[in-house]
Amino acid sequence: MYKNILVPILLDDQHDTQGSYLAARALADEGAEFTVLHVMESIPSFVETQLPKDALEKSHDYAGKALKQSAAALPGAKTHLATGHPGRFIVDYAKEHGIDCIIIASHRPGIEDYFLGSTAARVVRHAQCAVHVIR
Ligand code: ADP
Repeated sequence: MYKNILVPILLDDQHDTQGSYLAARALADEGAEFTVLHVMESIPSFVETQLPKDALEKSHDYAGKALKQSAAALPGAKTHLATGHPGRFIVDYAKEHGIDCIIIASHRPGIEDYFLGSTAARVVRHAQCAVHVIR
């Protein structure tokens, strides 16, 4: 059904990443491309100046490894680690890379009262391609 699928993920154990990967496989055309994306939130400069010099580099390395480890569950997927505002970055990345479907979890488990988390809501509202929401 889709040829170029973006799977934005959080690197914690609270979000249903496996569900996103299953949906990605089920919705993919033969030969489809997958990109698993994580966006690290920018740290305000007044906080950054208080951190040990290599703290950001270390957290970037850690996130890169965790992202690759997670994406191994979606064979053939590319990974992309970025820094910025997650909701805005995901929408812009999709537009700039010809993504035809974004697969996103609705929110973390346990807050079912909310229909969508803040990042998921922004993506659903602003993406110009299809968005498949895992609930
Ligand atoms: P909640 O506030 O309940 O965590 P979110 O909207 O932040 O809800 O998260 C829902 C989904 O949005 C995540 O499971 C993931 O798919 C995507 N997402 C949220 N933040 C990021 C991020 N920083 N990088 C990539 N994807 C993200």
